[in-house]
Amino acid sequence: MNTDKTQKRLVVLGAAESGVGAAILAQQKGYDVFVSDMGEIKESYKTMLMESNIDFEERHHTEELILNADEIVKSPGIPDTAPMVAKAKAKNINIISEIEFAGRYTNSHMICITGSNGKTTTTSLIYHILKKAGYNVGLAGNIGHSLALQVARQPSDWYVIELSSFQLDNMYDFKADIAVLLNITPDHLDRYDFQMQRYADSKLRILQNMGPDDSFVYWMEDKYISEGVSRLKPQCKMLGFTDEIAENTASYTTDDKFHFIRPLHIEFPLSVLSIFGKHNHRNAQAATLAALSAGVEPDIICSALSDFPGVEHRLEKVEKVDDVWYINDSKATNVDACLCALKSMFRPVVLIVGGRDKGNDYTVLYDIIREKCRGLVYLGADNRKLHESFDSLGLPVADTNNMKDCVEKCAEMAQPGDVVLLSPCCASFDLFHNMEDRGEQFKQQVRNRMK
Ligand code: ADP
Repeated sequence: MNTDKTQKRLVVLGAAESGVGAAILAQQKGYDVFVSDMGEIKESYKTMLMESNIDFEERHHTEELILNADEIVKSPGIPDTAPMVAKAKAKNINIISEIEFAGRYTNSHMICITGSNGKTTTTSLIYHILKKAGYNVGLAGNIGHSLALQVARQPSDWYVIELSSFQLDNMYDFKADIAVLLNITPDHLDRYDFQMQRYADSKLRILQNMGPDDSFVYWMEDKYISEGVSRLKPQCKMLGFTDEIAENTASYTTDDKFHFIRPLHIEFPLSVLSIFGKHNHRNAQAATLAALSAGVEPDIICSALSDFPGVEHRLEKVEKVDDVWYINDSKATNVDACLCALKSMFRPVVLIVGGRDKGNDYTVLYDIIREKCRGLVYLGADNRKLHESFDSLGLPVADTNNMKDCVEKCAEMAQPGDVVLLSPCCASFDLFHNMEDRGEQFKQQVRNRMK
């Protein structure tokens, strides 16, 4: 408990990666720190807190120990409507995110990436390019260790940070040196009173505090981004990118090339990129613009685009068995992501769909399934909706409820030269722990077929 009146009290709500990192940094900076989590805290995080002698509680919030805070760091997973957050707000306690807190204690260069889709891929690609260029760089935000923990224990000259809208919501003074905004499409609307504009405004906060020396990389074909840019009139260097050549574009693609006009005039063949799909061309354009802005040499960028290993569970090539490629896109937990994956396929596809349905409307997939799919394999605890939605398309279908049977049916259905694509449109929790578990099991079953 705080006895020294000059010592500031920082309370951290939520004890996972970001919260524990913030607590450790705060402790190091001389705060009186207290951590409170309504749920159970993972053993590994408890150990970290105990090793740093930080007081914490779990499975409840003690109001008197929280509302005496000078400032609160809130985990991005906790909504503003949570009772303790509402009480803290009513008492005018400043509530910030872990990134905002960590940003106060570092002068390192910050490259921040946000968007509804493509964040992890683009963040990982930028990190890969900077590493290859020999930069002293850390990966933070939604991936890797929290920014706060890295600032406390292993500072880097550069950070590449994946930011969600929830993190951005509680960021005020933080400034990105290079910001990337990939797209804004409906997501998490339950946290924004079901108002798309509120969600878009949250994403656009990535621009706040940026000045003439900073660079903003953004997809110009997104209506929420273009509207935000015209309204906010950012004062930084504007590096908008497009699919086709357009006025003021800094980068576009043609059938066989990436073109960059600013900050350098260069071209790369599309074929250098190790990952595939139109959406990944956009991610590569964004990553290249960010890396060029960070001063990386074009030759190094080109080489890094070619040996980027991709991100697990996102259009991940697993193996070729009996002349059939197996592709793991377990991260595709909604219909849009599956559509995106199918657009990237240029061979007949045996598509695996199913899982816990989130009220999906599958009709948007009908045309592309008719055009590209040889057959469908349903994988779920309850496949009735899939039968109702797809059987009438007249393609061969198979009904399975475990990964072993599923991969077996796919192998029976596929012909040499085909692709088997796990891009399930649904959450995984009916049969698997999470989407990673679903992807791992798929890969294991595919590899078993090689023996
Ligand atoms: P996020 O971290 O934002 O969820 P990921 O990089 O993990 O994004 O990609 C998740 C899925 O989003 C991919 O499997 C793909 O279907 C889709 N996607 C990726 N990049 C883009 C993009 N630039 N535009 C639209 N969709 C994309």
